[in-house]
Amino acid sequence: MPQLSHRVSRFTDSVIRRMTRISDAHGAINLSQGFPDFDPPKPLMDALAKVAYQGPHQYAVTYGAPNLCQALARKHGRAIGRQIDPDTQVVVTCGGTEAMMSAVMTVCDPGDKVVVFSPFYENYGADAILSGAEPIYVPLKPPAFDFDRQELEDAFRQHPKAMILCNPSNPTGKVFTREELTFIGELACRYDVFVITDEVYEHIVFDPYQHIPMAGLPGLFDRVITCSSLSKTYSITGWRLGYLIGPAQVMEGAKKVHDFLTVGAPAPLQEAACVGVNFGEDYYKELKALYTRKRDFFCDGLEKIGLDCNRPQGSYFVLVDISRFLALEQFKGWSDLAFCEWMIGHIGVAAVPGSSFFKEDVNHLIRLHFARSEETLAEALRRLEKLAALLKD
Ligand code: GLN
Repeated sequence: MPQLSHRVSRFTDSVIRRMTRISDAHGAINLSQGFPDFDPPKPLMDALAKVAYQGPHQYAVTYGAPNLCQALARKHGRAIGRQIDPDTQVVVTCGGTEAMMSAVMTVCDPGDKVVVFSPFYENYGADAILSGAEPIYVPLKPPAFDFDRQELEDAFRQHPKAMILCNPSNPTGKVFTREELTFIGELACRYDVFVITDEVYEHIVFDPYQHIPMAGLPGLFDRVITCSSLSKTYSITGWRLGYLIGPAQVMEGAKKVHDFLTVGAPAPLQEAACVGVNFGEDYYKELKALYTRKRDFFCDGLEKIGLDCNRPQGSYFVLVDISRFLALEQFKGWSDLAFCEWMIGHIGVAAVPGSSFFKEDVNHLIRLHFARSEETLAEALRRLEKLAALLKD
């Protein structure tokens, strides 16, 4: 048989999504891949039922159904205080995943460098490889996951084409401050670099932290490609709806990439999702309150049973430190991946090994998410209590 491309040998399948498959095979509580176990808002389900009979059932406009593009343009325009043209500055994609891939492919040629904070959402590694780009990693340092300004500037001095910025950050839960974003923006201008943002957790941010869309900072709109998704905001991860918003010249390129990658996102789902994108402010307040309750319930629970975790500022991820387990005779020399696999079988809770997010050699963290009903989170905590009990023996 002929050889496969060199490209596909350079990355593995997603560990996040692999953990879901293993979890399902064992019937564990899946706190690995982040997605809600509760229904989307009823108006979206009603709209979907209606669409089943009224259509559309054929292709939408490749770049996004006009009504969805208009709704997204209005929503993002409000967020950044600027008029967005739905025809030239918005592209609807199959999830945030395609948005990010399209953005990187639109601005990067093989050999171009891309600055990425580490830890990072694992898709960015594959996005870079499939586009031929080489990541330059800059560490976000625990416990606060701050970055060193000098280190970031050193990365920009290597003439990258773009920087990828996940804000709120998966997996750290960090929400970047205005000062940090302004500093990154200044570097992007000084070194003439695009900033590709992944803002899929923009509405899952906890008080007193605030999500600031990078594209809204003064003078940055023309070099920021905002990628986001409807998945997390409206609890519809299976609908696969995401989008890019940016300056028309960049979107012109992104439209072509998107056209040949997927032709378009599912038309009936775009139609039904419009209802959500047109929701008023109250919806987002309730969503934030819902996730704040879940975060507090879950993090308080983890702390109570004696597991060390960070309390995220945004997103629905928690990093749990497993160092004390790895020091036990039973787990000596184990990788975080082996520990997660063991946890699925023996504790009945699935997590993602932290090493799949870090460029650095990090083996002592696992990522759990709390986008689950309170009942399920309570059951997960009961199971994790058995895990924590190992530390007391
Ligand atoms: N962003 C989610 C996570 O990190 C998963 C998204 C996906 O698998 N497409 O778990």
